[in-house]
Amino acid sequence: MEALKRSLSSLLGSVIVGPMLKAGGITIHFLNDGLWWDDGGAQFGIVPREIWQREKRPNERGRISMSLTCPLIVTRSELIVVDTGIGNRLSPREQQFFTPQRGSGLTGQLRALGYTREDVTHVVLSHLHFDHLGGVIDKAGDGTITPTFPNARVVLQRAEWELATQPPDERLAAAYRHAPECLEPLANVDLIDGDTTLTAHVRTTVSGGHTSPHQCVIVETAGTGLIHFADIVPTTAHLRLAWNAAYDTDPLVTIAAKKRLYAEARQKNLWVSFSHDDVVAAGRFSNETGKTPTLAETIPIAPPSET
Ligand SMILES: [Zn+2]
Repeated sequence: MEALKRSLSSLLGSVIVGPMLKAGGITIHFLNDGLWWDDGGAQFGIVPREIWQREKRPNERGRISMSLTCPLIVTRSELIVVDTGIGNRLSPREQQFFTPQRGSGLTGQLRALGYTREDVTHVVLSHLHFDHLGGVIDKAGDGTITPTFPNARVVLQRAEWELATQPPDERLAAAYRHAPECLEPLANVDLIDGDTTLTAHVRTTVSGGHTSPHQCVIVETAGTGLIHFADIVPTTAHLRLAWNAAYDTDPLVTIAAKKRLYAEARQKNLWVSFSHDDVVAAGRFSNETGKTPTLAETIPIAPPSET
């Protein structure tokens, strides 16, 4: 069956080799900064717990298991990391709440693939919440903070930077309270405005919804590629159009973005990847044309790095 799946996806222009995707000279690995737990109600917004718990079973504290999937796009001359996970900067209180199990995180996973953190040329941030931005810095035991990827251009939406550095209200101030610590040490920040082509095969598109400037990353090559949904579809359960996180500042915009990106994935035969599903890192839509896509094949999340 696996061999059949493999040859089918070869026909479609891409091939799964272990937890990675290869297409047209580009390899995409799905790094994982580890597992953590977040409130299930916050992740599923208006969906009643009786319904969502059939998909993601909460623990005794009402929390669900989440991953921190960060695609690594390898081209001939670039090493692009999309989002950076939680990193090692959480306070003891935050660690108690989120209980992250991350081992050596993204740098450990890069090492396992034969790369160093110095090799990373670009870090693209979907948005600046702590579970996507935190790993951009490395906090030593003595509190010294340095950029995790010292040679990388850190690419993010200018409007997201402005929200995070000058939050206009109390809700956003709370959502971005970690941002100054993470952003100040960065020397090489590239603020972009709207949809932007980054390299020959990699671009960003603003989805809005989760945060108003939230962006997704799209790779297109050789008749296939990938859309990284980041937090507009954080888990496979969120593929349903009306299942959106309470964190979203405009869920109606999230729904519109999902419809647009599902249509693009179907039309261009693109894989899709999820920021927080604790089982599936990426998948390819089946040929069914219902409003909620189903996945024909999937790539599992990488296990957290060893310490
Ligand atoms: Zn997130």
